[in-house]
Amino acid sequence: SSQWHLVARPHGEPVPSDVALRTVDLPPLGEGEVRVANEFLSVDPYMRGRMNDVPSYVPPFRLDEPMTGGAVGRVVESRSSDLPVGTAVSHNDGWRDVAQGPAKAFSRVEELPGVSLSVHLGALGLTGLTAYTGLTRIAGLKEGDVVFVSGAAGAVGTMVGQIARLRGASRVIGSAGSAEKVALLTSKYGFDAAFNYRDGDVLGQLQAAAPDGIDVYFDNVGGDHLSAAFETLNRFGRIAVCGAIGAYNATGAEQGVTGTTRIVTRSLRVEGFTMGDHWDLAPEFAAEVGPAFADGRFVFDETVVDGLDNTFDAFVGLLRGQNVGKMVVRL
Ligand code: NDP
Repeated sequence: SSQWHLVARPHGEPVPSDVALRTVDLPPLGEGEVRVANEFLSVDPYMRGRMNDVPSYVPPFRLDEPMTGGAVGRVVESRSSDLPVGTAVSHNDGWRDVAQGPAKAFSRVEELPGVSLSVHLGALGLTGLTAYTGLTRIAGLKEGDVVFVSGAAGAVGTMVGQIARLRGASRVIGSAGSAEKVALLTSKYGFDAAFNYRDGDVLGQLQAAAPDGIDVYFDNVGGDHLSAAFETLNRFGRIAVCGAIGAYNATGAEQGVTGTTRIVTRSLRVEGFTMGDHWDLAPEFAAEVGPAFADGRFVFDETVVDGLDNTFDAFVGLLRGQNVGKMVVRL
């Protein structure tokens, strides 16, 4: 079996010498254990944080040990009656082709007709649930709200736009890093307006897209986007701070944020969240979004990179914005 190890801590954007693909011999299964052939691996922005040796809400990857992360696959050998051979499962032993361990570390997932198992890593998995949590529990989205989301063409962002619509937002605005992504947001994902932040003047572009201001900002980026949101939020506006990808590869001080006096003058609420505290919303998310997904009201994209060998390139590509929707590796 092969697995990716972190061998050096990246400085700025990760480089190939920071990681190594190692071959290991797996021990025979113990009682109650299963062996899973991974079919899709998830690469996610939070993994960049785990490559740094700083305490965070998930512990750093350890040097010279296999990295972990979301994956879906199928049981190929089993010593557990709970998960017979052939069962499709999701789990957290990604960055490798074969995972094994106690059956309780693996969760059964539903195989939807005509839909790739990878959907459980994206739209119907962690990233979909993140969008749902941020909008509903954190931002308290109400019918009629004007919603702005950054990183809008990514895995979380595309779901934020659609869940906002489903929940009755009056206007949905997104920002992304290319003209193609911006076009996709309005043509495929139902956004009312979208802009390319690489064209500059994030504040001006946001205000042109939101003549009546915004009520909710779903922040995936931080920095200039967060500053622009403070200037544009209406009274009693809410910000769900989900990520700050603009800073993940930063080597110096974080980009400053301005406009924070608006928190007082406009009675804003700003709240960060990490999914570890919100798994309880999973059944509600499945009940609300599952049917909309099944009857085709929700669309999603995946950017699929083939081969375990290319997992690191897929990860760096994600940080560079080479994905539309969820970035996954197919084995
Ligand atoms: P995405 O699919 O959105 O991929 C990352 C995207 O970030 C890229 O496609 C790129 O798109 C964009 N990006 C990269 N650099 C910058 C930059 N400097 N400024 C603006 N955009 C940039 O990933 P996810 O959907 O998985 O994650 C989105 C956000 O949600 C991240 O911040 C992540 O950390 C966060 N997150 C938080 C969770 C939580 O529990 N709080 C759980 C899951 C995700 P573009 O071409 O538009 O630049």
